Amino acid sequence: MKRAIGSGRSVIRSKGVIFILSAPSGAGKTTLIKRLMKVFPDLKLSISYTTRKPRSGEIPGQDYFFVAQKKFELMRAKGEFVEWANVHGNLYGTPQRPLEKSIRSGGDILLDIDVQGNKKVKARYPNSVSIFLLPPSWKELERRLALRGTDGRETIRQRLQDARRELREIKSYDYFIVNREIQHALELLKSVVVAERMRVFRVQKWTASLLH
Ligand code: 5GP
Repeated sequence: MKRAIGSGRSVIRSKGVIFILSAPSGAGKTTLIKRLMKVFPDLKLSISYTTRKPRSGEIPGQDYFFVAQKKFELMRAKGEFVEWANVHGNLYGTPQRPLEKSIRSGGDILLDIDVQGNKKVKARYPNSVSIFLLPPSWKELERRLALRGTDGRETIRQRLQDARRELREIKSYDYFIVNREIQHALELLKSVVVAERMRVFRVQKWTASLLH
């Protein structure tokens, strides 16, 4: 019996895919990422460095590498960040080494970064895939921010204003997902990951090998 083309050899990708997920705070990004990592255990999550103080429950080295401003600036000067940005008054940076290591070995990596970071990563890695997560409405975003209970009225107002500013940048993204309901948003995100992994340009060596 003839084997279907492609079934006999495992797919070889010359480079891993960089996925970028951005969202205004309150859109549900953290929960979505946690669920996505369970679906794709082989997907690596990039851990950023930040000068922000840890929030209660956050684990250093798992949520972020929390560092002093001096250390951050030293790393930045040594070119250790793929990109860095000032977000809500704190510095955040994506470390270069783990990202390079991952994509060079054909492994995919997910970056949870803001709109400024997206622009910089896209400029440096044009084959990266960016997704913007949206709340269903401004009203719902406000409700979710208030529900979190971690922020005061003024912070919530500021976050809503930031969200409007961030939304203007949606044009520099490849995909959007509206988070009406988390399971549905997860299904949509899964489809993006699966489809992007099947882009022919990412597997050119493998498709060439099928002819031999
Ligand atoms: P938070 O402090 O609430 O965890 O994150 C605030 C914002 O900073 C989020 O939009 C998050 O995506 C963004 N962020 C986290 N790490 C990085 C990073 O390394 N670079 C950039 N540009 N943004 C980041």
